[in-house]
Order: sequence, then structure tokens, then C-alpha cells
Amino acid sequence: MAVQPPFSVTDSHSLLWWAHLSLTEVYGTQDIYGRMDPMHELIATILSHRTTHANEMAAYKAMLDRFPTWEQVRDAPLDDLIACIQTAKYPEVKAPWIKQVLTSIIDERGAATVDFLSDMSTEEAMSWLTNLPGVGLKTASLLLLFYFRKPVLPVDTHVHRVTQRVGVLGPKVSAERAHKLLLEQLPKDPVVLFNVHKHFYWHGQRVCTWYTPKCSECALASQCAFYQSGGTLELSSTAGRNTGLQIRIG
Ligand code: SF4
Repeated sequence: MAVQPPFSVTDSHSLLWWAHLSLTEVYGTQDIYGRMDPMHELIATILSHRTTHANEMAAYKAMLDRFPTWEQVRDAPLDDLIACIQTAKYPEVKAPWIKQVLTSIIDERGAATVDFLSDMSTEEAMSWLTNLPGVGLKTASLLLLFYFRKPVLPVDTHVHRVTQRVGVLGPKVSAERAHKLLLEQLPKDPVVLFNVHKHFYWHGQRVCTWYTPKCSECALASQCAFYQSGGTLELSSTAGRNTGLQIRIG
């Protein structure tokens, strides 16, 4: 049953809010939490691009085992750093990014810390972070929401795929563009935004997976455009991967 949101909405707003409330019933409400301190999270998130969590953590551990301080990572010979993080995808790209990020932060701030972001406006902090090499909207949004409680919405591959399949986003909207489009439709409350992110993320991992979404178990099936189409919609979030998609109808 669709739930009416407590603010003026268009159809897309209603659908997003209904999906949020439906997923809240499934996953509950969490307070905001992060995995580690912000500086570690920034570097770990650079390692995480297109990499499984296990491989990201293996690369992260190998890097800090070999180079225990951020200054040592900054000064590490490039080939050695690449070798350390080889379990992450594209280590030859990520190693220079990590060295450049650490150099920029230490040169500008005198220490390897991003705690100063808490004193910046959301727009200033977002601009500062996305000017760093290898730091895009998703990484910056994760850091700002999880550690500094700024009102932004990180859109990773799971959030993008589920919101697009349900029909909140148009079929050609990119994940980059989705950051702005989804945020415009939500209250600027960090706890709400954290829960929206977590719920769509978990739902994409556990239920609305790439190839075999478990539609028969899904709390969003009654309003889902992808499910109603029998899995035939061509979507940018699953471009080239829809062939052979199996929709299991309970
Ligand atoms: S109904 Fe299926 S395609 Fe739609 S959100 Fe749920 S699992 Fe994904």
C-alpha cells in the first residue's frame, strides 16, 4: 500500500518516499555510523572503486602493514605502493591518486586529517573533496554524510540500480546525475538520508541483485516499473546486463 509522504510531492517524490518507508519496515532505522575515522575512510574508499569489500580491505591492510603512517604512504616508492594494493582493481591508477591526495592534504593542512570539513558548509566541503584526484561525488558524499552528518545522499551502484528499477529515476539517468535528482526529492535530514542510502544499498545487495532480483520477496514489487515490465526495461544502471535476466515471480 502506498504511503503518503508528509510534504508536497510529485509522483516521483511519492514513489521514492513510499519506497523509503517500505524499506524502513524491512531494515529498520539506524543512527548514522561510519567504519573508521574519516581520513582512513577517504583512502579506503579510493581503494574500493570497482573492488569487492574483501579485496579492498586486503589492499588497505597490506598498504598500512608496509607503510604504517600516512606520511610513509605519501613518500612510498610508487611501484612498492602499487604492489601493496594489488588486490584492489586498477592499483596503478589508485596508488598515484592516494599519494596525490595525501600530498595535497598534508601540504594544505599540515597534517593528514580531514576533520576541518566539519566547519565547512556542505557545498564548500563537497567542492574541496571532489577537487582531490580520485574523489568523485559518491566518495565525497559518503564521507560527508557518514562522518560529518552533512545532508547529502551517496549513490552507489546498488542505490542507482534499485531506484531506477522501481521507477524513481528515468531509464537513462546516470549515477552521477542521480545524486542531485534523488537529493532534491528528500528531506535534508542526515539521519533520513543515511537510512535511505543504507536501505537501498542493502536491498540492492540482498534482494534486487544484478541478474536475479528476488522480486517475489521484494517489498517494492507492487510499484516497481522493472518488475511490472517483466524485466524488459532497458536501464542505464544495468546497461548490457539485462540479457538473460531472470525474474522470479512468486
Ligand atoms: S520488484 Fe524486483 S526489480 Fe523491482 S525493486 Fe524489487 S527486486 Fe528489484
